[in-house]
Amino acid sequence: MKAAVLREVNQPVVIEDVQVDAPASREVLVRTGASGVCHSDLHFVEGLYTTPMPCVLGHEAAGIVEAVGDQVGYVKPGDSVIMCLSVFCGICEYCMRGQPYLCTKTAVTRGANDPPRLRRDGEAITQFAQLGAYAAEMLVHENALVKVDNDIPFPQLALIGCGATTGLGAVLNTAQVEPGSTVAVVGCGGIGIHCVQAAALAGALRIIAVDTTEDKLSLAREFGATDVIDASSGNVAERIMDLTDGGVDYSFEAIGLKQTAEDCYNMLRPGGVATIIGMVPEGVKIEIDAGNFLRRGAPSRVAPWDPTGSAPICPGTWSSTGRAASSWTNWSAKNWRCQKSTKPSPT
Ligand SMILES: [Zn+2]
Ligand SMILES: [Zn+2]
Repeated sequence: MKAAVLREVNQPVVIEDVQVDAPASREVLVRTGASGVCHSDLHFVEGLYTTPMPCVLGHEAAGIVEAVGDQVGYVKPGDSVIMCLSVFCGICEYCMRGQPYLCTKTAVTRGANDPPRLRRDGEAITQFAQLGAYAAEMLVHENALVKVDNDIPFPQLALIGCGATTGLGAVLNTAQVEPGSTVAVVGCGGIGIHCVQAAALAGALRIIAVDTTEDKLSLAREFGATDVIDASSGNVAERIMDLTDGGVDYSFEAIGLKQTAEDCYNMLRPGGVATIIGMVPEGVKIEIDAGNFLRRGAPSRVAPWDPTGSAPICPGTWSSTGRAASSWTNWSAKNWRCQKSTKPSPT
Protein backbone atom coordinates (compact mmCIF):
# COMPACT_ATOMS: atom_id res chain seq x y z
CA MET A 1 0.00 0.00 0.00
CA LYS A 2 0.97 3.66 -0.29
CA ALA A 3 1.82 5.52 2.91
CA ALA A 4 3.34 8.89 3.81
CA VAL A 5 6.42 8.07 5.86
CA LEU A 6 8.34 10.44 8.15
CA ARG A 7 12.00 9.43 8.27
CA GLU A 8 13.67 12.57 9.55
CA VAL A 9 12.48 15.68 11.40
CA ASN A 10 12.14 18.88 9.42
CA GLN A 11 12.03 16.87 6.19
CA PRO A 12 8.93 16.29 4.07
CA VAL A 13 7.10 13.03 4.54
CA VAL A 14 7.63 10.73 1.55
CA ILE A 15 5.06 8.55 -0.20
CA GLU A 16 6.41 5.02 -0.11
CA ASP A 17 5.24 1.49 -0.85
CA VAL A 18 4.75 -0.12 2.55
CA GLN A 19 3.81 -3.70 3.36
CA VAL A 20 1.02 -4.19 5.88
CA ASP A 21 0.76 -7.44 7.83
CA ALA A 22 -2.37 -9.60 8.15
CA PRO A 23 -4.56 -8.88 11.22
CA ALA A 24 -3.55 -10.73 14.39
CA SER A 25 -6.26 -12.14 16.65
CA ARG A 26 -7.67 -8.84 17.96
CA GLU A 27 -6.58 -6.60 15.10
CA VAL A 28 -8.63 -4.97 12.36
CA LEU A 29 -7.48 -3.90 8.91
CA VAL A 30 -9.22 -0.68 7.85
CA ARG A 31 -9.15 0.95 4.39
CA THR A 32 -8.71 4.65 5.03
CA GLY A 33 -11.70 6.68 3.85
CA ALA A 34 -10.48 10.09 5.02
CA SER A 35 -7.84 11.51 7.31
CA GLY A 36 -7.63 14.95 8.84
CA VAL A 37 -4.36 16.85 8.90
CA CYS A 38 -3.99 17.85 12.53
CA HIS A 39 -1.43 20.36 13.76
CA SER A 40 -0.24 17.75 16.26
CA ASP A 41 1.25 15.75 13.38
CA LEU A 42 3.22 18.82 12.36
CA HIS A 43 4.72 19.03 15.86
CA PHE A 44 6.38 15.66 15.24
CA VAL A 45 7.54 16.63 11.75
CA GLU A 46 9.14 19.74 13.25
CA GLY A 47 10.74 17.79 16.09
CA LEU A 48 8.88 19.69 18.83
CA TYR A 49 7.74 16.27 20.03
CA THR A 50 9.48 12.99 19.35
CA THR A 51 8.26 9.69 17.96
CA PRO A 52 10.14 6.58 16.78
CA MET A 53 10.96 6.80 13.06
CA PRO A 54 10.40 5.83 10.33
CA CYS A 55 6.78 6.53 11.16
CA VAL A 56 3.45 6.88 9.39
CA LEU A 57 1.77 9.92 10.95
CA GLY A 58 -1.95 10.68 10.96
CA HIS A 59 -4.40 10.14 13.81
CA GLU A 60 -7.76 11.66 12.77
CA ALA A 61 -9.38 9.20 10.41
CA ALA A 62 -12.33 7.09 9.40
CA GLY A 63 -12.64 4.20 7.02
CA ILE A 64 -14.16 0.85 6.20
CA VAL A 65 -13.23 -2.51 7.69
CA GLU A 66 -11.51 -4.83 5.23
CA ALA A 67 -10.47 -7.77 7.40
CA VAL A 68 -10.54 -8.81 11.05
CA GLY A 69 -8.56 -11.15 13.31
CA ASP A 70 -10.10 -14.41 14.53
CA GLN A 71 -11.07 -13.01 17.96
CA VAL A 72 -12.72 -9.82 16.73
CA GLY A 73 -16.47 -9.86 17.10
CA TYR A 74 -17.19 -6.15 17.36
CA VAL A 75 -16.80 -5.30 13.67
CA LYS A 76 -16.90 -7.16 10.38
CA PRO A 77 -15.71 -6.37 6.85
CA GLY A 78 -17.81 -3.59 5.35
CA ASP A 79 -18.45 -1.73 8.63
CA SER A 80 -17.72 2.01 8.77
CA VAL A 81 -15.49 3.00 11.66
CA ILE A 82 -13.92 6.05 13.27
CA MET A 83 -10.36 5.60 14.46
CA CYS A 84 -9.70 6.44 18.13
CA LEU A 85 -6.64 8.44 19.01
CA SER A 86 -6.70 6.98 22.51
CA VAL A 87 -6.66 3.24 22.01
CA PHE A 88 -7.17 1.54 25.35
CA CYS A 89 -6.34 -1.95 26.61
CA GLY A 90 -9.07 -2.21 29.25
CA ILE A 91 -6.86 -4.05 31.75
CA CYS A 92 -4.07 -1.69 32.86
CA GLU A 93 -4.17 0.37 36.05
CA TYR A 94 -5.46 3.47 34.28
CA CYS A 95 -8.13 1.63 32.34
CA MET A 96 -9.28 -0.19 35.48
CA ARG A 97 -9.73 3.05 37.39
CA GLY A 98 -11.76 4.73 34.69
CA GLN A 99 -9.02 6.65 32.88
CA PRO A 100 -8.62 4.76 29.57
CA TYR A 101 -7.27 7.94 27.95
CA LEU A 102 -4.12 7.42 30.09
CA CYS A 103 -3.80 3.75 29.10
CA THR A 104 -0.26 2.44 29.05
CA LYS A 105 -1.24 0.46 25.93
CA THR A 106 0.92 -2.56 26.58
CA ALA A 107 -1.86 -4.90 25.52
CA VAL A 108 -2.76 -3.14 22.29
CA THR A 109 0.63 -3.12 20.60
CA ARG A 110 2.56 -6.00 19.10
CA GLY A 111 5.37 -7.51 21.15
CA ALA A 112 9.05 -6.93 20.41
CA ASN A 113 9.37 -10.43 18.99
CA ASP A 114 6.26 -10.21 16.83
CA PRO A 115 6.44 -9.11 13.19
CA PRO A 116 5.75 -5.36 12.81
CA ARG A 117 2.38 -4.27 11.53
CA LEU A 118 4.09 -2.16 8.87
CA ARG A 119 7.41 -2.67 7.16
CA ARG A 120 9.33 -1.85 4.03
CA ASP A 121 11.88 -4.33 2.73
CA GLY A 122 12.31 -5.82 6.18
CA GLU A 123 12.53 -2.44 7.95
CA ALA A 124 9.86 -1.91 10.65
CA ILE A 125 7.77 1.26 10.33
CA THR A 126 5.85 2.59 13.33
CA GLN A 127 2.30 3.92 13.41
CA PHE A 128 1.74 7.27 15.08
CA ALA A 129 -0.79 6.88 17.93
CA GLN A 130 -1.02 3.18 17.01
CA LEU A 131 -2.97 4.30 13.94
CA GLY A 132 -0.83 5.68 11.11
CA ALA A 133 -3.66 7.29 9.19
CA TYR A 134 -1.62 8.81 6.34
CA ALA A 135 -1.82 5.51 4.56
CA ALA A 136 -4.19 3.61 2.30
CA GLU A 137 -4.79 1.08 5.09
CA MET A 138 -4.54 1.04 8.89
CA LEU A 139 -3.90 -2.13 10.87
CA VAL A 140 -5.05 -1.46 14.44
CA HIS A 141 -6.24 -3.07 17.66
CA GLU A 142 -10.02 -3.40 17.79
CA ASN A 143 -10.13 -0.99 20.76
CA ALA A 144 -8.79 1.72 18.45
CA LEU A 145 -12.02 2.13 16.54
CA VAL A 146 -15.74 2.76 16.95
CA LYS A 147 -18.36 1.38 14.61
CA VAL A 148 -20.75 3.94 13.13
CA ASP A 149 -23.63 4.16 10.68
CA ASN A 150 -22.56 3.50 7.10
CA ASP A 151 -24.41 6.49 5.65
CA ILE A 152 -22.19 9.23 7.10
CA PRO A 153 -19.46 10.59 4.78
CA PHE A 154 -15.88 9.79 5.79
CA PRO A 155 -14.60 13.39 5.78
CA GLN A 156 -17.09 14.31 8.52
CA LEU A 157 -16.50 11.08 10.44
CA ALA A 158 -12.74 11.58 10.40
CA LEU A 159 -13.03 14.87 12.29
CA ILE A 160 -14.60 13.07 15.23
CA GLY A 161 -11.38 11.10 15.64
CA CYS A 162 -9.44 14.04 17.07
CA GLY A 163 -10.80 17.59 16.75
CA ALA A 164 -14.36 16.95 17.83
CA THR A 165 -13.63 14.53 20.65
CA THR A 166 -10.72 16.53 22.03
CA GLY A 167 -12.69 19.77 22.09
CA LEU A 168 -15.86 18.28 23.48
CA GLY A 169 -13.97 16.07 25.93
CA ALA A 170 -12.07 19.02 27.35
CA VAL A 171 -15.22 21.04 28.00
CA LEU A 172 -17.66 18.33 29.05
CA ASN A 173 -15.40 15.78 30.75
CA THR A 174 -12.25 17.53 31.97
CA ALA A 175 -13.56 20.96 32.94
CA GLN A 176 -17.20 19.91 33.28
CA VAL A 177 -18.53 23.35 32.43
CA GLU A 178 -21.82 24.08 34.18
CA PRO A 179 -24.87 25.90 32.80
CA GLY A 180 -24.58 29.65 33.27
CA SER A 181 -20.77 29.66 33.16
CA THR A 182 -18.56 32.18 31.42
CA VAL A 183 -16.11 30.49 29.05
CA ALA A 184 -13.19 31.68 26.91
CA VAL A 185 -11.73 29.60 24.09
CA VAL A 186 -8.32 30.70 22.83
CA GLY A 187 -7.71 29.40 19.32
CA CYS A 188 -10.67 28.48 17.12
CA GLY A 189 -9.23 25.82 14.82
CA GLY A 190 -10.48 22.26 14.67
CA ILE A 191 -10.32 21.72 18.42
CA GLY A 192 -11.21 25.21 19.63
CA ILE A 193 -14.33 25.39 17.51
CA HIS A 194 -15.54 22.20 19.17
CA CYS A 195 -14.79 23.72 22.59
CA VAL A 196 -17.08 26.59 21.61
CA GLN A 197 -19.75 24.15 20.50
CA ALA A 198 -19.40 22.07 23.66
CA ALA A 199 -19.64 25.15 25.88
CA ALA A 200 -22.90 25.99 24.12
CA LEU A 201 -24.13 22.42 24.63
CA ALA A 202 -23.19 22.68 28.32
CA GLY A 203 -25.35 25.79 28.68
CA ALA A 204 -22.58 28.35 29.16
CA LEU A 205 -24.14 31.80 29.32
CA ARG A 206 -21.22 33.63 27.78
CA ILE A 207 -18.69 32.13 25.37
CA ILE A 208 -15.79 34.30 24.28
CA ALA A 209 -13.90 33.07 21.20
CA VAL A 210 -10.35 34.32 20.65
CA ASP A 211 -8.40 34.05 17.40
CA THR A 212 -6.48 36.16 14.92
CA THR A 213 -8.47 35.06 11.86
CA GLU A 214 -11.77 36.69 11.02
CA ASP A 215 -13.10 33.57 9.28
CA LYS A 216 -12.55 31.49 12.40
CA LEU A 217 -14.17 34.09 14.63
CA SER A 218 -17.20 34.28 12.40
CA LEU A 219 -17.47 30.46 12.39
CA ALA A 220 -17.15 30.53 16.18
CA ARG A 221 -20.23 32.77 16.32
CA GLU A 222 -22.12 30.18 14.28
CA PHE A 223 -21.07 27.50 16.74
CA GLY A 224 -22.28 29.45 19.76
CA ALA A 225 -19.77 32.18 20.68
CA THR A 226 -21.48 35.21 22.22
CA ASP A 227 -18.38 37.44 21.97
CA VAL A 228 -15.28 37.33 19.78
CA ILE A 229 -11.86 38.88 20.29
CA ASP A 230 -9.31 39.46 17.55
CA ALA A 231 -6.05 38.57 19.30
CA SER A 232 -3.82 40.20 16.70
CA SER A 233 -3.45 43.30 18.85
CA GLY A 234 -3.64 44.04 22.56
CA ASN A 235 -3.33 41.93 25.69
CA VAL A 236 -5.92 39.18 25.39
CA ALA A 237 -6.10 38.36 29.11
CA GLU A 238 -6.58 42.01 30.08
CA ARG A 239 -9.26 42.52 27.45
CA ILE A 240 -11.15 39.46 28.70
CA MET A 241 -10.85 40.65 32.32
CA ASP A 242 -12.41 43.97 31.23
CA LEU A 243 -15.06 42.31 29.10
CA THR A 244 -16.17 39.99 31.88
CA ASP A 245 -15.70 42.34 34.82
CA GLY A 246 -13.22 40.07 36.54
CA GLY A 247 -12.49 36.97 34.50
CA VAL A 248 -13.99 33.76 33.17
CA ASP A 249 -15.01 30.59 34.98
CA TYR A 250 -13.36 28.37 32.38
CA SER A 251 -10.68 28.99 29.78
CA PHE A 252 -9.48 26.59 27.09
CA GLU A 253 -6.15 26.84 25.29
CA ALA A 254 -6.40 25.20 21.86
CA ILE A 255 -3.23 26.37 20.12
CA GLY A 256 -0.19 25.05 21.99
CA LEU A 257 1.78 28.20 22.79
CA LYS A 258 3.43 29.36 26.02
CA GLN A 259 1.85 32.83 25.74
CA THR A 260 -1.69 31.62 25.17
CA ALA A 261 -1.38 29.00 27.92
CA GLU A 262 -0.32 31.73 30.36
CA ASP A 263 -3.09 33.99 29.07
CA CYS A 264 -5.61 31.26 29.82
CA TYR A 265 -4.58 31.30 33.47
CA ASN A 266 -4.43 35.09 33.68
CA MET A 267 -8.00 35.52 32.41
CA LEU A 268 -9.57 33.39 35.17
CA ARG A 269 -11.79 34.71 37.90
CA PRO A 270 -11.09 33.34 41.43
CA GLY A 271 -11.86 29.63 41.44
CA GLY A 272 -11.69 29.39 37.66
CA VAL A 273 -10.20 26.50 35.74
CA ALA A 274 -7.83 26.69 32.76
CA THR A 275 -7.65 23.61 30.53
CA ILE A 276 -4.55 23.44 28.37
CA ILE A 277 -5.40 21.32 25.34
CA GLY A 278 -2.79 22.54 22.84
CA MET A 279 0.54 20.74 22.64
CA VAL A 280 2.92 23.34 24.03
CA PRO A 281 6.35 22.14 22.79
CA GLU A 282 8.31 19.80 25.05
CA GLY A 283 10.70 21.66 27.36
CA VAL A 284 8.81 24.95 27.24
CA LYS A 285 8.00 26.29 30.73
CA ILE A 286 4.60 27.83 31.40
CA GLU A 287 5.01 30.62 33.97
CA ILE A 288 2.32 31.62 36.44
CA ASP A 289 2.77 34.56 38.79
CA ALA A 290 2.83 33.17 42.34
CA GLY A 291 1.04 36.14 43.88
CA ASN A 292 -1.65 35.91 41.27
CA PHE A 293 -1.95 32.20 41.99
CA LEU A 294 -2.43 32.89 45.69
CA ARG A 295 -4.94 35.68 45.21
CA ARG A 296 -7.07 33.54 43.00
CA GLY A 297 -7.39 31.01 45.81
CA ALA A 298 -6.92 27.31 46.20
CA PRO A 299 -9.64 26.21 43.78
CA SER A 300 -7.75 27.72 40.85
CA ARG A 301 -5.88 25.08 38.97
CA VAL A 302 -4.59 24.15 35.59
CA ALA A 303 -6.29 20.99 34.46
CA PRO A 304 -4.24 18.45 32.54
CA TRP A 305 -4.48 18.06 28.82
CA ASP A 306 -7.46 15.88 28.18
CA PRO A 307 -6.81 13.38 25.44
CA THR A 308 -9.68 12.14 23.41
CA GLY A 309 -10.33 8.93 25.29
CA SER A 310 -12.92 10.60 27.47
CA ALA A 311 -14.82 11.92 24.55
CA PRO A 312 -18.45 12.57 25.41
CA ILE A 313 -19.85 12.16 21.96
CA CYS A 314 -21.85 9.54 20.21
CA PRO A 315 -21.14 9.29 16.50
CA GLY A 316 -24.80 8.55 15.99
CA THR A 317 -25.63 12.16 16.84
CA TRP A 318 -23.24 13.58 14.28
CA SER A 319 -24.94 15.26 11.37
CA SER A 320 -23.53 15.60 7.90
CA THR A 321 -23.14 19.35 8.33
CA GLY A 322 -20.33 18.75 10.78
CA ARG A 323 -22.20 19.70 13.93
CA ALA A 324 -23.01 17.43 16.81
CA ALA A 325 -26.62 17.40 17.83
CA SER A 326 -27.49 18.50 21.33
CA SER A 327 -28.59 15.02 22.31
CA TRP A 328 -25.05 13.75 22.69
CA THR A 329 -24.67 10.64 24.73
CA ASN A 330 -21.86 9.76 27.02
CA TRP A 331 -19.08 7.68 25.54
CA SER A 332 -16.52 8.34 28.19
CA ALA A 333 -14.24 6.91 30.78
CA LYS A 334 -17.08 6.70 33.24
CA ASN A 335 -19.58 5.21 30.83
CA TRP A 336 -17.83 4.34 27.64
CA ARG A 337 -20.51 2.13 26.20
CA CYS A 338 -21.95 4.42 23.57
CA GLN A 339 -25.71 4.17 23.54
CA LYS A 340 -25.85 4.06 19.77
CA SER A 341 -22.90 1.85 19.13
CA THR A 342 -22.04 -1.56 20.52
CA LYS A 343 -18.56 -1.32 21.96
CA PRO A 344 -17.58 -4.69 23.45
CA SER A 345 -16.39 -5.19 27.00
CA PRO A 346 -12.66 -4.48 27.43
CA THR A 347 -11.51 -8.00 28.09
ZN1 LIG B 1 -5.13 15.76 16.44
ZN1 LIG C 1 -5.12 0.33 29.52
